[in-house]
Amino acid sequence: MSEHTISQPQIAPFFPPRRTLMGPGPSDVYPSVLAAGAKPTLGHLDPLFVGMMDEVKTLLQYAFQTQNEMTLAVSAPGSAGMEACFVNLVEPGEKVIVCRNGVFGERMRQNVERVGAVAVLVDNEWGTAVDVAAVEAALKANPDAKFLAFVHAETSTGARSDAQALCALAKKYGCLSIVDAVTSLGGIELRVDAWGIDAIYSGSQKCLSCVPGLSPLSFSPAAVEKLKARKTPVQSWFLDQTLVMGYWGNATGAKRSYHHTAPVNALYALHEALRLLADEGLEAAWARHAAMHAELRDGLEKMGIEFVVAAADRLPQLNTVHIPAGVDDAAVRARLLNEYNLEIGAGLGALAGKAWRIGLMGYAARRENIALLLKALGDVLG
Ligand code: PLP
Repeated sequence: MSEHTISQPQIAPFFPPRRTLMGPGPSDVYPSVLAAGAKPTLGHLDPLFVGMMDEVKTLLQYAFQTQNEMTLAVSAPGSAGMEACFVNLVEPGEKVIVCRNGVFGERMRQNVERVGAVAVLVDNEWGTAVDVAAVEAALKANPDAKFLAFVHAETSTGARSDAQALCALAKKYGCLSIVDAVTSLGGIELRVDAWGIDAIYSGSQKCLSCVPGLSPLSFSPAAVEKLKARKTPVQSWFLDQTLVMGYWGNATGAKRSYHHTAPVNALYALHEALRLLADEGLEAAWARHAAMHAELRDGLEKMGIEFVVAAADRLPQLNTVHIPAGVDDAAVRARLLNEYNLEIGAGLGALAGKAWRIGLMGYAARRENIALLLKALGDVLG
């Protein structure tokens, strides 16, 4: 055996326990979605598989409420959807108004700067919505801005911003809008065409209750035009949507060609998750999230636990609450995990150590989950 030989490892199969996921995502996956992912793998150009991809596109157009031809799932998590928007649409030297009221607005800024563009920041306090008047002031002060980028549902704080008003402002000032809907899709009202959203991305692992690792994405005709008019090639080969569309298909009905090997089984899972959403109906899903949030809120408030975000700006699917004084954050979360198989989220960034994030996303937005959470938290807090 040479000194470079790596010895043969002896590792047992991995059997994850069945946890209840009530953090900021991933959320509990629907049982039939898990089962869909375990179906036999097909080739990524098998006619049966590409037929299923067409259905995924139709289902995504429903979930996003859009007729956008360029609607697909990026074969990577939400951060790749974010990056796909910036690398495809924004060119070096262009100006982007970036709204920052939490971790993911800051991630947008980093994307803008990495493509060599200029980010003009509109900062809002963590836990508050993006201030529409401040955005209008920034748009007025920067008539050369080409984009307005913001997070619809800020998962780091639990605040919801007014996507409709912000996109209307973008239009008024001649900007394309780039919207993060990672936590909003399927959980709160979102209407891509009616609100005039130009580029939007989401994640499979939040209110769609699918396995993690896919990022639904949609570009309006105006965004596609901007992409086609680029003076320089998209810097990322993998995320270049002009190439990806050769595989996902376009209106011309041109034959699909290999771009990358699609995550076939994950796409079966997404197909099933979106099918369940369509079966329930979007409005019904939004109403269920709102109703479950009200039930959880009442229970938490009875325990004396207070919300970080003002009622008007709260996301029903992501409840950020103050950790009661004198309580050991990590110890409580560890007991919930170990004794109740229940995951809630820690605070992130400015809220680290100060708040818990309780998710009610997709399949997790159910009475049983709320009852378990309230009982377990009540027991642990004594
Ligand atoms: N944007 C928001 C609002 C998110 O909540 C997340 C993940 O939590 C992301 C982007 C990044 O998504 P992912 O972790 O799937 O890459």
